[in-house]
Amino acid sequence: MEHLDAIAKVKATIKKWRQEGHTIGFVPTMGALHEGHLTLVKRAKAECSRAIASIFVNPTQFGPNEDLAKYPRDLDGDSKKLASVACDAVFTTTPEEFYPQGFVTWVTVEKLTSGLCGASRPTHFRGVTTVCTKLFNVVSPDKVFMGEKDYQQVTVLRAMVRDLNLPVEIVPCPTHREKDGLAMSSRNMYLSADERRRALALSQGLKKARDAYASGEKIGKRLEAIVASEILQAEGRLDYANVVDGDTLEPLVQANDRSVLAVAAFIGKTRLIDNHVLGRAWPAARG
Ligand code: AMP
Repeated sequence: MEHLDAIAKVKATIKKWRQEGHTIGFVPTMGALHEGHLTLVKRAKAECSRAIASIFVNPTQFGPNEDLAKYPRDLDGDSKKLASVACDAVFTTTPEEFYPQGFVTWVTVEKLTSGLCGASRPTHFRGVTTVCTKLFNVVSPDKVFMGEKDYQQVTVLRAMVRDLNLPVEIVPCPTHREKDGLAMSSRNMYLSADERRRALALSQGLKKARDAYASGEKIGKRLEAIVASEILQAEGRLDYANVVDGDTLEPLVQANDRSVLAVAAFIGKTRLIDNHVLGRAWPAARG
């Protein structure tokens, strides 16, 4: 696997790959990689002849009181994991290189970013859409593989690609879960053993709500209450549990098969998110 630690090196490698006739799949990440990230790389390898991942803890998507400074960083471990799934290259950069002095240009997506995580993280998506536009320009991939675990993020980025005619395809990939159902996340590392147990409230609440939906409960507020009560029982602090339209992310009174039930909650100091598309089966336990 090639380690490309500067924008110019990525551009040179991509140019060479293009001359060789390759298609390019891209997996942007913030590192601290887990199996969920690796499923995206495997999918990139399956659909494209070259796969490149980026590792960049993007400062502009963190709010002033969020976990930028303590976000886990493990470049050596990450490189080994990426190499183990035959990733062809990893791109790393620094805030200094990526945001040059005098940086004043932002990409914003409206409406889709105002609810859910956007309500409590008002500058988050501006950081995500800006960093992704820049990454897409540097890497110029054919396809970008992103996790549905961050459902709002994928929806926002698909809208951005459509609205700005960016020549890439966003490929949403299923949420990879621990055996007990917890959605894999780099932030799970922050959890103590007790918090790790209580963190199950998110996926269990979603599963219970999904079962209620499948048994005929269609009132959005009641489905949300099922998740909220699970978080409360686990002594978590709910940020939101919302039934929204899967495309517009608008809140829905009545749920349907295309609706998404999305949840964010603090377990201790750690903010976790998860979601489920209500018309889908709950994923079978692995392992
Ligand atoms: P992050 O490093 O958290 O910014 O995530 C990088 C990419 O991995 C994003 O597209 C995420 O949606 C995706 N991702 C994170 N966790 C999971 C998971 N459990 N399953 C699938 N994709 C994931």
